[in-house]
Amino acid sequence: MSIAENIKKLKAEIPPHITLVAVSKTKPIEAILEAYNAGHKIFGENKVQEMTGKYEQLPKDIQWHLIGHLQSNKVKYIAPFVHLIHSVDSLKLLQEINKQAKKNGRVIDCLLQIHIAKEETKFGLSFEEAEELLNSEQFYALDSVRIRGLMGMATFTMNEQAVRSEFRSLSDFFKKVKARVSHPEFKILSMGMSGDYTIAIEEGSTMIRVGSSIFGER
Ligand SMILES: *Cc1c(COP(=O)(O)O)cnc(C)c1O
Repeated sequence: MSIAENIKKLKAEIPPHITLVAVSKTKPIEAILEAYNAGHKIFGENKVQEMTGKYEQLPKDIQWHLIGHLQSNKVKYIAPFVHLIHSVDSLKLLQEINKQAKKNGRVIDCLLQIHIAKEETKFGLSFEEAEELLNSEQFYALDSVRIRGLMGMATFTMNEQAVRSEFRSLSDFFKKVKARVSHPEFKILSMGMSGDYTIAIEEGSTMIRVGSSIFGER
């Protein structure tokens, strides 16, 4: 199937309240344009330089989501245009995003990345660290960033029960924080990729990040 057909099939399959982020990392401009011409405008990249290059070459009504680990010294390159940063994992990073957002006269939407997987290598905050960040005075002082919700990645495993229980723990934490912060804009739960988005949606995801099921293997 073509990229356009994959996108259409996926959109028909997922409930209408779920936002689909088409993960285009490592894929060429032509592949993104094919999805764009099929009506899709939300794309995810995991590297700053790659996202910036693609932003420059592609139509300006695309919403670019940064889904990979972000270093503070690179925030300035994406601050003028990024739509949503999924991978905020420290107060220091959030402070830099706030600074660069202000410089650009913007408010930048962010998600806190929560570590739910068993793998050691994946980035993210623990539930306790996320609570601490959200309760800190330094966080309250930031007026050019908005925390729109949470992001998490499950362990890469065939064990469906393990994946489901990780998503469920994130979903429970999301509901708890949502009830407490009581800001209407705190409503995004970014979880689910090609291999596990069905389970993620069953467990309460509102935004899925799908790459290989749309663009093919990397
Ligand atoms: C690559 C990536 C995805 C998409 O992975 P697929 O398995 O290709 O769907 C989703 N989220 C993050 C953070 C990624 O790095």
